[in-house]
Amino acid sequence: MYSNRRPVIRLSSLPPNLVSMSDRGGCTLVGCPDCGVWRSVKRSMITPHRGPDVPGAEAWPNEFRPLAPWCPGSGQKVKVDLTFEEWRARLAEGCRQAGQRRRTRVMPRPKPPAAPAVVQMAAR
Ligand SMILES: [Zn+2]
Repeated sequence: MYSNRRPVIRLSSLPPNLVSMSDRGGCTLVGCPDCGVWRSVKRSMITPHRGPDVPGAEAWPNEFRPLAPWCPGSGQKVKVDLTFEEWRARLAEGCRQAGQRRRTRVMPRPKPPAAPAVVQMAAR
């Protein structure tokens, strides 16, 4: 497995909701920056995977369906510089902040009066 030669992504620089870690130090998951799907991190790299399906591929029968090309996010180097506890703390902080946000006030726009029908215009 080769790196895609892009600069290393530090886990601490990603939003905590795009990272998933295990308290047993197992598999770390990252939302692929290219296709946005959860992918596992092995040997400090996002495992190779095929990207989003070719548009219109569903129209083909299974045996003739074209294979999706490799996702350019495959082999992205990732530096795991967070512990499970640090990540959980960041996630909890993000949830707390989102809970404190105020919702926007909806301003209903007044409806313009309906124009009279042609028959009504003649009656006036
Ligand atoms: Zn991807």
